[in-house]
Parts: sequence; C-alpha cells; structure tokens
Amino acid sequence: MAVSVTFVGAGDAFGSGGRFNTCILVDGKNIRFTIDFGATSLTALNKLEIPHNSIDAILLTHMHGDHFGGIPFMLLDAMLGARRDRPLTIAGPKNLAARIAAATEALFPGSSAMTPKFPINYVEMTVGQPNEVLGLTVTPHAARHTPQTDPTALRVAVDDKIVTYSGDGEWTPDLNAASRDADLFIAECYFHGKAVKGHMSYPDIQAHKAGFAAKRMILTHLGPEMLANADRLPEQCAEDGLVVRL
Ligand SMILES: [Zn+2]
Ligand SMILES: [Zn+2]
Repeated sequence: MAVSVTFVGAGDAFGSGGRFNTCILVDGKNIRFTIDFGATSLTALNKLEIPHNSIDAILLTHMHGDHFGGIPFMLLDAMLGARRDRPLTIAGPKNLAARIAAATEALFPGSSAMTPKFPINYVEMTVGQPNEVLGLTVTPHAARHTPQTDPTALRVAVDDKIVTYSGDGEWTPDLNAASRDADLFIAECYFHGKAVKGHMSYPDIQAHKAGFAAKRMILTHLGPEMLANADRLPEQCAEDGLVVRL
C-alpha cells in the first residue's frame, strides 16, 4: 500500500475561508498518524468520517492552539464517548505532557480527575536529530516562529517515503535540509503579498522553492489573502479533505 496523506485541516489559526485548523493525516502500511491536531480537528475528522480511535500517533510541530488545541477534546471523547482501548502516542516539544494536561484542565475544569483506560505515551523529541516514534523516523528542525511554542518543521520517514511539513515559521536554511528529496513537502504559505513575521508568505515560497528540492510541494495554512489568489497560482494549494497518494 502506498503512503497516503489526507489534509483533514488546511486552514490558518482563525478559520479563514471556513477551513479547519492544521491536521495532516498520514496512513502508512502499519501506522496511521497525524501531524498536528488543531483546535477544530476533532470536528474535521468527524466530517470526513475518520474515527479518531484509529489514530496511533500525533506528531506536533509546535504548541499553538491551531496545531495542538484539539487534543484535549480528543482525549476526553476517547475516555467518554469513543471508549478508546488502544495506546496513543503523542510526540512533540519539551514538557509535552504537562502542557497538554494544562490545556485540558483549562478547557474542561475537573477533567484531570479522570484517568484514561488506554495508555498515552508522550515522546519529547530532540530537535536536530532523528527520533524513533512507533517505527517512524521523525526529525524536527528548529523553526523561526513564536519561541514560546518550541517551533519545528518535521521531516517524517514513513515506510519508504518522506513527508516534510514546515509547521509555522519564516524561511530558514533548515527548511532546505528538512525538505530535501522529500516525496511531499507541505509548506505553510500564510499571505500572498504581505511579508509577516513568523510565517512564510508566497514571495518566500517563490524565492526559495528551488532550494526546497522536494519531489512535490503543496501549500497550506492559507490566510484570506492567499485564499483569494490560490486559484491563479502554479503551485498546488491544499484544501480540507484533499487526499494525496505517494
Ligand atoms: Zn498555525
Ligand atoms: Zn503557530
């Protein structure tokens, strides 16, 4: 079976164009995982009729709500409604378990008294080197974005394919390394004309796409200005529900 990539959510933080927050679902031979799980990702999965109990692992690029904020909702439903009984792995930046627990308790006060019946394995990944996560090889590269979120781009080896997602962040030379020879490079492209601190915009994509050197590139995390221009661009832009087979 080929690796398949489903853009469960291809939107920005603020629901521009009615799109869902970032959640990229990847199916390999023996694993189903997502890269990021934004605040609206549970709704987005339900819309696509993808049961969240089928997800083995969640890999996080950084700790902004539009990239991890759906996890508290998923964990609660896994305990209460969906009755998950399989292990779940969540991999991301340092202090991961404490940060997710704090977010869960803030959104659902009192929920910390509940103990999940399924094991949750938190993996704090080391930036700049390969990390083994449930048979995946995940290499986080430091990104230039809000430092408090511990931002990274993730290069993920799944079966014989490489999927790289820039996460949020300005262009850095690390993105060239992270995307080199990738079968799919998913690049954030927030604005069309405007340069925005902490993000890539279309002029950055144009200036640096030769250096990315991936076999295929898809733009995501589109803001209103990009959405207005996406149809006219030669680059492929993601939309919610897009499925790509590698
Ligand atoms: Zn974002
Ligand atoms: Zn962010």
